[in-house]
Amino acid sequence: MLQAYRDKALAEKAAKAIRKLAPEGKIKFMHVCGTHEQTITRFGLRSLLPENIEIIPGPGCPVCVTPAKDIDIAIELAKQGKTIAIYGDMFRVPGSRSSLNKEKAKGGDVRIVYSIRDAVKLAREHKDKEVVFFSIGFETTAPTVASEILSSPPENFSILTSHRLIPPVMELLLGIGDFEIKGWICPGHVATIIGVKAFRIFPEVYGMPTVIAGFEPLDVLLALVMLLKQVKKKEPKAENEYSRVVTEEGNLKAQKMMNEVFEVCDENWRGIGKVPNSALKLKKEFSEYDAREKFDVEVEEAIDVLPGCSCHLVIVGKLKPEQCPMFGKKCTPSSPHGPCMVSQEGTCNIAYKYGDHKK
Ligand code: SF4
Repeated sequence: MLQAYRDKALAEKAAKAIRKLAPEGKIKFMHVCGTHEQTITRFGLRSLLPENIEIIPGPGCPVCVTPAKDIDIAIELAKQGKTIAIYGDMFRVPGSRSSLNKEKAKGGDVRIVYSIRDAVKLAREHKDKEVVFFSIGFETTAPTVASEILSSPPENFSILTSHRLIPPVMELLLGIGDFEIKGWICPGHVATIIGVKAFRIFPEVYGMPTVIAGFEPLDVLLALVMLLKQVKKKEPKAENEYSRVVTEEGNLKAQKMMNEVFEVCDENWRGIGKVPNSALKLKKEFSEYDAREKFDVEVEEAIDVLPGCSCHLVIVGKLKPEQCPMFGKKCTPSSPHGPCMVSQEGTCNIAYKYGDHKK
């Protein structure tokens, strides 16, 4: 497995350092990023660690945490005849009673796009249609959306916002009674936007070792070495393993655009519930582009946790995908039951594709 690493010698050195720094008892670290989970599982990184060191996946898949209610609203808008533009990963995610792919099969106009720009283009080319972009994602996608909104898209364009913010959900998890995590591996791409400074609260207020990491296997291994050193010295701090990309302040231009267009609000995360200050909504001055304001849309009470699904436990790292009775049986990537099996960044999807269960 070490052959897959950019610098094999350095990877071997890092793995050796991890073994040397491993404490006596069990220790768990959490990451909050679907891309990190892909790297860790795909490259068998957990198999390089001593048995007492565990890396737990947290709520790092934006598709998985999009509330069923927002999917229900998108479905209702499709039923009303609007064109719904979505990322491919959202297509099959179940809402409370249906999904966007099922609505498309029934004749709804649901289109897969690669970016908000494609959705705006669609609106310009089809002036007779109302095009609604289902705008999901973390701090990484929000600046692009803000930039498009500031570029005066056409009148027949609007967005259904369901953006979520990573540091507030990390804070919420720390408040869970039996949370046994001893350090964070933070997502490098989120930190590229909001900077190291946004993560300083974790060591400074909560005494939690924190490392921002890149996405190559070696990045994650080095982040683990940094975390274990902090644990050993009992000196929690926010360190930046991904310094080739991430700065202390982050991308100030992107932050300015986000602040201009969005305001922070409390919102639900699928499988977690309401998280204070964890979502973005369009500011009043941009309400003409807010699908919730523009259209009259009512939905029945939403069902976030579907019968038999354990995604709410997988999302917060309390259950491994293989421990869900549906995993690999009634729930597979080709026939997913819960959101964590649909998305490429979902923990169950990743475990099914790259995990040990097939061996
Ligand atoms: Fe949900 Fe399927 Fe994962 Fe079970 S295996 S937690 S049903 S996505």
